[in-house]
Amino acid sequence: MTLHSPGPWMVGYRGMDVGCENAKIGGYTKLFDVRGWGYLTGFGHGALGLPPEEATKIQMANATLAAAAPELLGALEALLEAYYKPDERLCCNGLDCGCKGSTVLQLAEHYAKQAIAKAKGGAA
Ligand SMILES: [Zn+2]
Repeated sequence: MTLHSPGPWMVGYRGMDVGCENAKIGGYTKLFDVRGWGYLTGFGHGALGLPPEEATKIQMANATLAAAAPELLGALEALLEAYYKPDERLCCNGLDCGCKGSTVLQLAEHYAKQAIAKAKGGAA
């Protein structure tokens, strides 16, 4: 049992926050701010002084990575569970039900690639 808000998490407007669906009234609700605009664009001590276009891309990539956290956690847990036991077919040889004869490890691999793709904001 995990305490965090259930996934999927989504990137908010312009990557300024990460949220999820409001479990009570529906719609997007903010979970946390993605800070760092001052670090990315500022010119003070320790700031990077990046142009806004580049900073916007980094801000969005940071939010995208953070929003994939529930899937990354789930995929990693499933991979480890599959990794430590003998692999098994999901149900049949793949001819009867269309499961393609996939194994538990292949399924875990699929979800891992899907989570990585979400974390990177596109295809794996
Ligand atoms: Zn099957």
